[in-house]
Amino acid sequence: MNFRRTNLNGTNQKRNPARSGRRLQGAGTPPVEILESRTMFNAVFSSVFGPETLKGDGGQRLTHPEVVLVFWGKFWGSATSASTTSVYNAVKKELGTDFLDVTKQYGTSGSATLSPSIGYISANPTNHGFDGGDIDNVVSQAISNGQVPSLPTNGAIYEVITPPGYGSSVANASGFNDEKSNTFETWVSSGGKTGLSIDNVTLVLSHETAESMTDPGGNGIEFNPSPSDPVGGSGNQIGDYEGNAYSFREPDGILVQPLWSAKDNSWDVGDGNKQNFYISPVWKGSKFTGIYGLLLQGGQVDGGYNPNTYTLSNGIDSANRSADVKATLNGESEYFDQGKLNNITINFDSRGTLDVANIDGVTASSPVLINGNNSGVANIGDGSTQTIFSSVTINNVQATFVNDSKDSRSGLSGTISKSSVTGFGLPNSVAINYNQYFRDGTSLSVYGGAGANTDLITGTSATYGVNLYPGTNGASTVNVKATTAPLSIYGGGQNDTFNIGSLAPRIGTGGTLSNIDGAVMIEETGLSSTLSIDDSGDTKSRTGVLSADNFGGAGLGNINFWGTELDDVTVYGGKKGNVLKVSGTLPFKDSIYNFSIK
Ligand SMILES: [Zn+2]
Repeated sequence: MNFRRTNLNGTNQKRNPARSGRRLQGAGTPPVEILESRTMFNAVFSSVFGPETLKGDGGQRLTHPEVVLVFWGKFWGSATSASTTSVYNAVKKELGTDFLDVTKQYGTSGSATLSPSIGYISANPTNHGFDGGDIDNVVSQAISNGQVPSLPTNGAIYEVITPPGYGSSVANASGFNDEKSNTFETWVSSGGKTGLSIDNVTLVLSHETAESMTDPGGNGIEFNPSPSDPVGGSGNQIGDYEGNAYSFREPDGILVQPLWSAKDNSWDVGDGNKQNFYISPVWKGSKFTGIYGLLLQGGQVDGGYNPNTYTLSNGIDSANRSADVKATLNGESEYFDQGKLNNITINFDSRGTLDVANIDGVTASSPVLINGNNSGVANIGDGSTQTIFSSVTINNVQATFVNDSKDSRSGLSGTISKSSVTGFGLPNSVAINYNQYFRDGTSLSVYGGAGANTDLITGTSATYGVNLYPGTNGASTVNVKATTAPLSIYGGGQNDTFNIGSLAPRIGTGGTLSNIDGAVMIEETGLSSTLSIDDSGDTKSRTGVLSADNFGGAGLGNINFWGTELDDVTVYGGKKGNVLKVSGTLPFKDSIYNFSIK
């Protein structure tokens, strides 16, 4: 929503030099010092259109005002009605957050208090017909009839809230701030035709309160928009222009607007956290899409000595109870409304801490990218992958775990390819992409659901190998078509069925073992497990070996089953003169086709 204001006062401003935007970030300076030097900890919205420049500074500030709410119009009913109380409580919560921290750099205390007194003027505003003079009349009435106190000019902001659906005489505005009768006042709209919106109130109030504190009556600090800013307007206050399009939900559920931070050249919101969450607004030309990217950057708090933990889960927003993305960085969390994030990036600390990313859940259309810097762990699914509604790409993480082991559904299927994991409880069209080709040691471990499942292996690429746990409560089938890196299958004591060959699960119908390049290891299977190996489509003559714990040979792969129980092993040789050397006593039933046995 647009709550640009026309600057009603403020023509005779003194010009002061810009406050220093210097940050203590320098080569070799540990991040711990950067953070200690900051006066605030923020959600940081990157400035898409570039820095604003100082327009002027008349020097006036409201350093720690008392906010006085006056409700205007019959809609509110009374100063103690359910609707006024809900707005009052939300504003109280809002002023309890750190959103005003950004204004400290301009000389305020970074906070405001809420008056316990509430004004209510029942006469309705003239819709689209009131201005700052009418707001002043409403405030004057509320003071003169004793509903709210008359406070010193520099100690208060009187904020007048109109009924939902009401606009002022300022076109396209949903709020403004003003000085009349030596009183600082704002107008705050409360939503459109759909009714009272607490989000609307707190969002507009955050904007107007911060502007009143830093530019009371237009006699404080003001900025020119970046020359490339397409938003336009003439407000020049710290909530205007680009950042007017943005919103941020505080951890307590209150929606506020980020404000221009001259010292950081970004749009910032104090959120009470010790680490920054980096947010990238997405614009299409001159239109903001309402969507953001999110970056969780490790290594912000302790100079790279301790591992960082990053967690994404499906949170419940305290304001509207919808499922949101909850992003947690070393124990500090932010919530993002569903549909607001179109990508999430997790950057492990590049100094080699053993960072851990836990992707427990993520909403749809928010693909996740994890940059591991050749170390650390990615946990995909905390026993269930069912709530991971967007794909996850994992670059150069040392160990990746895909864990659906507490998923009790039966009949699930999963596929491991040389670059991705799909199925295994994951929603349709979601893939876990593991791009780990460039490191000496990476591993992928996949835990299937507890029921009877069917898993397909079409390739493996993690260099330490791929571990598959098909499930612990039901007999599963594992079909292996191709491996590049070693594949280990841990049967969990179940009577599983293993089919190995390019046409698996079809066996003896023309498949080959030519793509079994990584060794296959089968372990921990139940007493009635069966293994079928298919090279029936091979046109070359082969010599193989079969023993109690191994089958293999040139062109036939290397399939191991020591330390496990198999009831039945079936092997199909190819079309041309094959020899199988059987070594020792075989502890399982064997069916050998197309080999002469030696
Ligand atoms: Zn403004």
